[in-house]
Parts: sequence; structure tokens; C-alpha cells
Amino acid sequence: MSKEPKLKIWNTASRKLEEVKPAKAKQIGFYACGPTVYQRAHIGNFRAYILEDILRRQLEHRGYKVKHVMNITDVGHLVGDTDHGEDKMEKAARATSKTAWEIAKEYTALFKQDMKRLNIEMPTLMPKATDNIKAQINLIKQLERKGFTYRTADGIYFNTAKFKPYGKFSGQPLAQKQAGARVEVGAKKHATDFALWKFSYPNGLSRKDYLSSDTGRETQDVGRRQMEWPSPWGVGFPGWHVECSAMARQELGQPFDIHAGGVDHIAVHHENEVAQSQAAYGKKLANYWFHVEFLMVDGQKMSKSLGNIFTLEDLEQRGFNALDFRYFLLAAHYRQKQNFTWEALESAQNTLSKLRQTVQTWDKPEGDCADLSAEFSAALDNDLNTPQALAVLWKLVDSNYPSSAKSAAILNMDRVLGLGLDKFVAKPAKVPKEIQKLLDERAKARQNKDWKKSDELRHELSKQGWVVEDTKEGQKAIKK
Ligand code: AMP
Ligand code: ZN
Repeated sequence: MSKEPKLKIWNTASRKLEEVKPAKAKQIGFYACGPTVYQRAHIGNFRAYILEDILRRQLEHRGYKVKHVMNITDVGHLVGDTDHGEDKMEKAARATSKTAWEIAKEYTALFKQDMKRLNIEMPTLMPKATDNIKAQINLIKQLERKGFTYRTADGIYFNTAKFKPYGKFSGQPLAQKQAGARVEVGAKKHATDFALWKFSYPNGLSRKDYLSSDTGRETQDVGRRQMEWPSPWGVGFPGWHVECSAMARQELGQPFDIHAGGVDHIAVHHENEVAQSQAAYGKKLANYWFHVEFLMVDGQKMSKSLGNIFTLEDLEQRGFNALDFRYFLLAAHYRQKQNFTWEALESAQNTLSKLRQTVQTWDKPEGDCADLSAEFSAALDNDLNTPQALAVLWKLVDSNYPSSAKSAAILNMDRVLGLGLDKFVAKPAKVPKEIQKLLDERAKARQNKDWKKSDELRHELSKQGWVVEDTKEGQKAIKK
């Protein structure tokens, strides 16, 4: 009897380790909350995106066709947790001479560039919130028809008290959530209620009508909002939570299979997505919820507000590259907090470099190392245990299999890990002339038993990115 391998992940919604059973055979609908494009994503954000990428690759490795949707939040994400904060995009625009649209374009392009460097597979679709306002308005209309909304002077709100299971998703009963909410109630009925549609000007007035109204004449003009749309309720823009619910449903249907994000989204953003989608359509939004723990710095979450963020550019300035960081991330399980230190990154860099040096010397891929390949996949099937998968990879490196079989097996492993090993496996780097000259000099020094000179030359070669091994056949130069 054949035993089909089963991929299990921790489902935040059920708080259980569950086998992923897709709604449609052999296909997975996968939604990941994407970046808010008002600044460059930091490496903490990329922990979430890289681990989501590993999940997607493992699903593909298991034969599923994955439709991966990642939204681009280019409007509606407010500063802070309240519904009164400023829109991050508009705030960034005011701090520069650029428009909110230009800022969104610039940071979306940078985000995609960073994704490529990190070897994250491009999502099937990356819908922008500003391109899908209609779908968001339709969701709000549906909620209005079902009696889940109310209007205040500054927008249309979701009434959390009307949705009985509110709080269940994140495991906090409504009363407790409301007491703990850091939100000013203001004109809202309950602290946990959240904006579905925010008005640009009080009561949904257009700019012109507002400026000519009594209050408008008396108040100082706060400047024009750049991103706004007409709606059945007045001129304004959608709330952040509505974007994800509307676009996920539009692209993947409801319920779809897996919804992913960082753990900080569980309590508010995802609780609210669950509430509004279920309230509107009487069905679950997603069957599995996958959440990635934080990247930490000195015991605190890496975040812009704490001022402890690093970007890929910062890493590069210190001599690291994106794949060193990717390797570093694999060493921790996604449900554990991971502490970022430069020492740990350096150790990841050295290990990856050693791995590249080793695989370059292997023969062309042929055959397999079936037991280790199976052990590797089993580690990832078990709630994406990347540290264990890495341990199996090193077991393969140290094994006695012929190197051609190792080449074949490691290339397959790397289709999931995404470390770009295909550029190195069985591909010894061509030795450039100036390096060959140093090698010849070193060979001569060794003939003359001038060990000091030989060591100096080894050091020089290393500085230039080459490792020398002294083998029975003579010197072997390997690119680091
Ligand atoms: P944001 O742009 O704040 O919505 O964040 C984008 C993604 O990165 C979300 O899935 C967050 O949960 C995630 N995220 C933010 N900070 C961290 C961190 N320090 N470690 C891991 N994931 C994070
Ligand atoms: Zn989202």
C-alpha cells in the first residue's frame, strides 16, 4: 500500500497541527498579506515573506498547483492602531515632494527587487488595493445589507457586537478585547469596531462642499487627500482590513485554502478580516491560517516604531548578501521567535559559503539519495521544520553517496530551500588569469618549502574570494 506523504501545518484558527487538505484537488489557494508600500520593507517583514515562500515551495514540491496572491497595500493603512491615525501613504507623501501614487510605485518596485534578491518566487498575482476599490465597496454594501455597519461623521464602521464569534479567532472574548483595546472609542459604538470606509472630509462631503460649509470655512484647510474615491456613503477611501477580505475573495473564492501573515496580524487585522468576510457571506474566509513569528533584536520585535530595523541594503553595506540572510532564517522554526545578530548572520554566511565550495566539486547530477531525500521532505511536511531539513542537507553532504547522486538530491532540496545552489552544484568556477598567477606562485613557494610565503598567498587568494585546498593532485582553487 502506498503511503502518500502528508503536509501538516499549525492552523492558528483551530490551534492544532493539521494536514493540509485542499478544497479543490491538487490546487491550493494561498493568500499572504503584502507590504504597505510607503517605505522599504525591513528584514523582519522578509522573515514572514520568506517562510511563506518556503511553504509555497513545499506545497509545489508535493505536487500542488499554488495560486499565490499577495496584495499591495497602497491606501488605507493608518498610522497606529486607532481609526483616527493618518494614512501611512499620505503621510509619507507630505514628508516628501512626491505624490502618494509615486511613493507607492517606487516602493512596490523596490519590494519586488528585494524579493528577487531573496529568491522569493513571485506571487501569481499582486493586486493593488487602489485597483480594486469596487470589490471593497461591494463587500461593505453586503455588510450594510446584513445590518453589520453603522455610520459616524468620519466613516462607515463594522459593528463587532453584532458578530457573535468576534474575538474567537485570536482567542480573546469580546469583552476582554474591548477592555484591552488601546483605541479611543470616539464616535464608535465599541472599541473593537473598525472602519470599513473612511471619509476624506466630515460626513463624506466632497472637498468643494466641505470648504464651502460652515465648519469648512472656520477650520484650517488640512490639504487635499490624494487618494480618494466616490462611494454610496460619500467621498473617501477603504479601511485596510477590507482590502484583504475583498481581494482574497475576488481572486481565490471563499473559503480558500491558506491565509498567511506575521503573528502581529492575528489579534486585529486577521480577526477583522475573519469577522467581515464571515458576516458578509456566511462562510469562513480561509480553511488554514499560517502565522510567522517575529524577527527580534535584543529581545524586542524588529519594527520601525522601535527604530531597530535593518534593510537588505544595510546588510549589503556590511558585506552580506540576501541569500546569507535567507540561510540564516532557515536555522529557526517559523513558530519560534528568532533573534537577529550580526554574529549569527556571519556564521550563516560562512556556512553557506562552505556549502557552495563543497557542491562545486561534485559530479554532474545523476541518480538520487532516496532515504535522505525522503527524510528531508518529511521534516518539512512536519510543520515546515526548516532547522531539521537543514540538518538532513548536511547529513547528505557528509554522506558516502557518490557525488553525482548528492548533486541530484541537493538540487531537489534546494527547490524548496531556495538558496540558489543550482549556480554552484557541479560547476567549478573558472579560474581567472590573475588568480592562476597567484596559484602558480604559491606552487613554486611550496616546492621551495617556503611555507610562510605559501600562507601569505593563501591569505591573498582568500581576500580575492578563492579558497585553496592542497590535494594529492596539487592545489585546487574553489570560489567562495
Ligand atoms: P506590515 O507592512 O507592517 O503590514 O508587515 C508586513 C508583514 O511583515 C506582515 O506579515 C507582518 O506581520 C510581518 N512583520 C512585521 N514585522 C515583523 C518582524 N519583526 N518579524 C517577522 N515578521 C514581521
Ligand atoms: Zn491582510
